[in-house]
Amino acid sequence: MTKKRSPDVYANSIEAPVYQSASYYFDDASHVKAGLHDLTTPAGRYGRYSNPTWLEVEARVSELTGAQSSLLFASGMAAHFTTFITLLKAGDEVVLPAESYRQVRNVFHVILPKFGITVHEISIRDPAAFLDGIRALAGRLRLVHLEMPSSPHMYLIDVAQVRQIVGPDVIITLDSSFSPPPNFYALQWGVDLALFSATKYMGGHGDIVSGMLSGRQDLIEQIRWYRDTTGPVADGNAAFLLRRSLYTLPLRMERVNALGMTVARYLEAHPAVRKIYYTGLESHPHFKLGQAYLAGHGGVITFELGLSEAATAEIVDRLTVPFMASNFGAPHTLVEQSTFFTYFEYDDAGLESIGVDRSTIRLALGYVNGADEVIEDLDRALPRAPG
Ligand code: PLP
Repeated sequence: MTKKRSPDVYANSIEAPVYQSASYYFDDASHVKAGLHDLTTPAGRYGRYSNPTWLEVEARVSELTGAQSSLLFASGMAAHFTTFITLLKAGDEVVLPAESYRQVRNVFHVILPKFGITVHEISIRDPAAFLDGIRALAGRLRLVHLEMPSSPHMYLIDVAQVRQIVGPDVIITLDSSFSPPPNFYALQWGVDLALFSATKYMGGHGDIVSGMLSGRQDLIEQIRWYRDTTGPVADGNAAFLLRRSLYTLPLRMERVNALGMTVARYLEAHPAVRKIYYTGLESHPHFKLGQAYLAGHGGVITFELGLSEAATAEIVDRLTVPFMASNFGAPHTLVEQSTFFTYFEYDDAGLESIGVDRSTIRLALGYVNGADEVIEDLDRALPRAPG
């Protein structure tokens, strides 16, 4: 069997192929010198360091987010963890919103303190109090991590104010998984690095787990070294699926933004709904921030019924359109009763600290469902009167 691949006569394919190779060969010693030592000829080396399909998807995400550079990871959590372990060292102090994604909180509270990093957790429920908390720490901080909208309440942050308070030298990272472009362009507001669980809207088909990081070239290069050394990398096939999905990201966001507004308006008017959290509604406590920062409000709607956890479970059980599952950005509509699902390990004090009521339901609208069928289903399941 010949050692060399035959020349690729289909290199003119419109879509870049999927590269699934653990390593890449060199023709001879001079090729090694040029491709590996001197970097004068671009050449592949080994699958943990790079892959042409990753490069494709990274370039496309940089275009979409307006970033200098982007990096693909095996998951959203891998993107988060690699970023923080690269940028932080013993003695550093950081800020984390109390309403951040549960596993990101675990990274900050369980893992980073083991390496001598001090974490200040501040609630974003009151946007002015959050800014005051940061102001009180200014001068001591190395990094401020943000997440918006937050789950389940879709709280927002005055990002430009955060940058103004901390000045140019503090690194700001922002988890934009709930609000990818075109809904929100984090990097335009003073954020250095935008993080995405590409498992969600970016991937958009519920069939891959992956993560993305976009932003400042100098920081990305540091993080690249950690990624390539420690190996939280995606394979070529996941990269290909993500690359293909990005073509339809704006279309899918447009669709779920419209679905979200329609279903949120229906729920807001329903007598059994005690509270609703959707940043497109004036009743959302951060509606004004939403008008300033978001071009669309996405497909995730959270509402409370004011009932017990058991009575709420009975109502959720009656729904037939959504899958009972914890995700968003997938084709299908998903529903979860927050305290019974994502936060089932939290006790009353833990739930109180993040402000999640036992009757909270999170609905993640999928683009294959029409607003009418979702509303009809909710209409059948919800009681006629307030709880
Ligand atoms: N950030 C947010 C806001 C999330 O909801 C999630 C996952 O649910 C993550 C990060 C982690 O992403 P992944 O599941 O792709 O690791």
